Amino acid sequence: MRYDDLFAFVKVAAMAIVPEIAALDVEMRGWRHHLHAHPETAFEEHATSAFVADKLRVSGLEVHTGLAGTGVVGVLRNGSGEAAIGMRADLDALHIHEKSGVAHASIHEGRMHACGHDGHTTMLLAAARTMAQRRRFDGTAYFIFQPAEENEGGGRVMVAEGLFDRFPMQAVYGMHNWPELPVGRIALREGPLMGAYDVFEIIATGRGAHAAMPHLGRDPMPFAAHVINALQTIVARNIHPLEAGVVSVTQVHGGDTWNVIPQEVVLRGTVRTFEPAIQDLIERRIGEIVTGLAATFDMTATLRYERRYPATINTPEETRHALAAATALVGAANVDTDPTPSMGSEDFAFMLQAKPGCYVWLGGGRGAGTPNLHNPQYDFNDEALAIGASYWVTLAEAQLPLARDIRHAA
Ligand SMILES: [Zn+2]
Ligand SMILES: [Zn+2]
Repeated sequence: MRYDDLFAFVKVAAMAIVPEIAALDVEMRGWRHHLHAHPETAFEEHATSAFVADKLRVSGLEVHTGLAGTGVVGVLRNGSGEAAIGMRADLDALHIHEKSGVAHASIHEGRMHACGHDGHTTMLLAAARTMAQRRRFDGTAYFIFQPAEENEGGGRVMVAEGLFDRFPMQAVYGMHNWPELPVGRIALREGPLMGAYDVFEIIATGRGAHAAMPHLGRDPMPFAAHVINALQTIVARNIHPLEAGVVSVTQVHGGDTWNVIPQEVVLRGTVRTFEPAIQDLIERRIGEIVTGLAATFDMTATLRYERRYPATINTPEETRHALAAATALVGAANVDTDPTPSMGSEDFAFMLQAKPGCYVWLGGGRGAGTPNLHNPQYDFNDEALAIGASYWVTLAEAQLPLARDIRHAA
């Protein structure tokens, strides 16, 4: 046995996997492979939703379907306590041609579980079954399965359709597998973990002309060139050097031929931030730059700025609860409490705007070169299933504690 093999053995042996979850490991892999082979994309997760509802019913939960279309909420009550928490998984896949080569690869051409939502769904189903068996909690656990995490904001739709009115809870928790983090580790931090996602479009209108007679037109090209450069000064010159922001111009559209000055140029791009004040500042500065340069170049310019997903911001108390559960499960040495936040975004942010809570990254890395999220070679790491499912059970049982005497009697 090599030292690194021994290390892996010790690390796994030291983990406090919930015994009922360990017993479900083979079944979990089966569920995950089934979901992986049958991926469905945003708001079309009908078979996935039916699969989830069926497993929850078999486990003895009260099941609510139809929220945000294909969303499912499983309700599990025990004892007489008022405490209630929510745990959330996402159901949807991506429009990607799978190239993983695994036996359970997608049989739906052009669609793929390349973000591991098959694993997220499986882990939450296993946690529901286990908590229903153990009954070691007092209060209500809500198991939230949301559609359309990718691009379409299914989390926002669930909140708008009354998720937290119909299912009142004190806090809501989320989790995403993270291939950059080795399996067996969990990362979390108070405050922002994922960025806000905004988009913008600038349409500049001048006057088209013969390219040999520029003085007869008003050319939007120099305007576009100056705007692209000036936008890069916002992060470099306007925001505090220790604050984070990204402004990326990702599309330039204008002109059709060599000898015509076009009438119009369209620029599009994205802005990523963690802090609302920085987001406000960047939006304001883009507007000022566009207006100022339009005047300079005698253009008419319009700016459309749209806020898509807010930043995913963990609240202090719930982060402490998540940290306690992670530490109890994988040990303090395997919990990263200061990960570098990602400028990727996550629609769990909409749930965190409505309720306190915490979102964590679950290690899924198999070593250097592990395909990352949204890569056609990616496959959720089955070794993480028992860890993630145990995290849910550990967290929920600690947040919905049995009174001492009841626990004793049990
Ligand atoms: Zn994704
Ligand atoms: Zn995802």
